[in-house]
Parts: sequence; C-alpha cells; structure tokens
Amino acid sequence: MSASVPSTRIKTNRHVFVLEDEVPGAPGLRAVRCRACRCHTLGRALICSHCFSRDVAPEAAGQRAELVEFAVSNHPAGGFSAPYAIGLICTEEGFALFAPLVGDPASFAHETLLRFTLLDRDDGTVAFAYAADDGAQ
Ligand SMILES: [Zn+2]
Repeated sequence: MSASVPSTRIKTNRHVFVLEDEVPGAPGLRAVRCRACRCHTLGRALICSHCFSRDVAPEAAGQRAELVEFAVSNHPAGGFSAPYAIGLICTEEGFALFAPLVGDPASFAHETLLRFTLLDRDDGTVAFAYAADDGAQ
C-alpha cells in the first residue's frame, strides 16, 4: 500500500466520512476494521466493538446500504435544496444511521439499495450522501 496523503478538500464533517486518499477502502464512512475478528466499528475507535481487540486499523465502510425508512423535507437545510430526503439506512456492515439521500425523493422506498457518494458543494466543501444504487460504478 502506498503512503496515505491527507486530503486538502474541506469536508462538512471530518468525523463522519473519509475521502478517497485518507484510508483503505475510501471513500466511505469513517470506521476501523479489527484484524482479529474482521468486523468494522463505526467512527474513530481504538478498540473493536465486537471482540474488544486493540488490533484495529482505519478502513472506510458503508459503501453499500439499504434504506429502512425515510422522510422528505420541504425546507432547504445544510446545503441541501428542498425537497430532499433523509433516510434511516443500514449498511452492509450492519451500521444503522441517518444519512441524507440524493435523487428524486419519489423514487425511494423501503429496501431501496443505496451507495455512498460524495457531493461537491457550491461553497467548495465536500459532503456525503447516499444515492440509489443502479449497479453502475
Ligand atoms: Zn474484533
């Protein structure tokens, strides 16, 4: 693996997600992967939340998810123009979290397959969201 070069792009929240050049498997949600049990723990962690091993290393997670529930907001907020959707998602690693959804809010439904995506915003920052996974890369 080549040496990691920190990104100079400004993220809307540096604690939640990682960019392409930050950790293995990025972009994705900030996580660590346990070398003992191979499970992921969401966020910056020094100990595996599954087996309590201290042998963990940063690795992005959450590239694929499934939509559990969602709500549509008709008021712009946080750089998202209305209408936009916020979803309760479950990632393939089993993380449950709320995340912004991009795309036509009318196209979302329970169990819609989602993929992690980065959004370059007008103010120069980069945010994350989930989009319907059409299978294309
Ligand atoms: Zn573990």
